[in-house]
Amino acid sequence: FDMFVLAFVERLFRPTFKKDDFVLGKKLGEGAFGVVYRGSLSQKPSSKEGDLVLKKATEYGAVEIWMNERVRRACASSCADFIYGFLESSSKKGGEYWLIWRFEGESTLYDLMQSKEFPYNVETMILGEVQALPKGLEREDRIIQTIMRQILFALDGLHSTGIVHRDIKPQNIIFSEGSRQFKIIDLGAAADLRVGINYIPKEFLLDPRYTAPEQYIMSTQTPSAPSAPVATALSPVLWQMNLPDRFDIYSTGLIFMQMAFPSLRTDSGLIQFNRQLKRCDYDLVAWRKSVQPRAGPELRKGFELLDLDGGIGWELLTSMVRYKARQRTSAKAALAHPYFDREGLLALSFMQ
Ligand code: ADP
Ligand code: MG
Repeated sequence: FDMFVLAFVERLFRPTFKKDDFVLGKKLGEGAFGVVYRGSLSQKPSSKEGDLVLKKATEYGAVEIWMNERVRRACASSCADFIYGFLESSSKKGGEYWLIWRFEGESTLYDLMQSKEFPYNVETMILGEVQALPKGLEREDRIIQTIMRQILFALDGLHSTGIVHRDIKPQNIIFSEGSRQFKIIDLGAAADLRVGINYIPKEFLLDPRYTAPEQYIMSTQTPSAPSAPVATALSPVLWQMNLPDRFDIYSTGLIFMQMAFPSLRTDSGLIQFNRQLKRCDYDLVAWRKSVQPRAGPELRKGFELLDLDGGIGWELLTSMVRYKARQRTSAKAALAHPYFDREGLLALSFMQ
């Protein structure tokens, strides 16, 4: 009840926009379902409304607007700050959906991971200029731990709201320069299971490099979208039965691997890893046994990092990347894992 009343009241009092209100700038991305631009308001009512990101989307834009509005009300800090979404009807049939966010920053986790400086470049962005520990595995581990904690925190917000993202990858994790933390973007493939929005998986939207082996977040026997009130009553049970959030956990585990193993940060490296893991029936321990004897320096470095503190990082990783969704940890349980008990980056900055 109150969720819908709140949404309605909020709509009444928020400013509304149309396409003419914006000037488009540089193109930031282009996919099969939309184009993303940097931009601004043509007449700035106040200086703080300066930098924006605008997405022009096809028919899936309607779901993406819905997801963003839900996130803004339920777990705003998990995702990029959403401002407004609307349908711009054109003379051609259909029209196009526009989505507007605040410009959070220049770099995604993908951009940051492509640098030779990773993860030290992230340390600088989170803390400013500090040099507490000498460069080395321990310091890298603290930075990676802090990034993982921020991603899992944002993901836990989404999952607690009933949203599965389904496209978690470094390209969809933006560093917010204002809050100095990572946030999730791109809810274009997301599913809200509590109200049955986008219930049937659109598997063609998924990125094969990061998808969990089950591909579908719900078993194919699950009936198609029930009407909203029924779905609200039923879906917590379905959620328990199918654990659809574990789909995102698998993808997040792959990001953890890419941060630990420099050789997996390239596309070809990740694809090769996926092939090897599949050959090991998605058993990470078996994969490790098969590659360790002939591991080069980059692989060895990753194992060393994950083996710090009695292998607590490796333990967390193997609880995320598992074949069976049911055996994977949840975002909330992962945050309580001893891997995160050790001091992270903030403690490091206080040591100054
Ligand atoms: P798609 O992947 O469908 O093209 P995204 O929503 O992922 O669309 O956006 C594409 C790119 O635009 C992102 O990878 C990121 O570089 C940039 N971007 C998206 N939203 C923001 C934002 N709020 N702030 C800064 N950059 C953004
Ligand atoms: Mg994207």
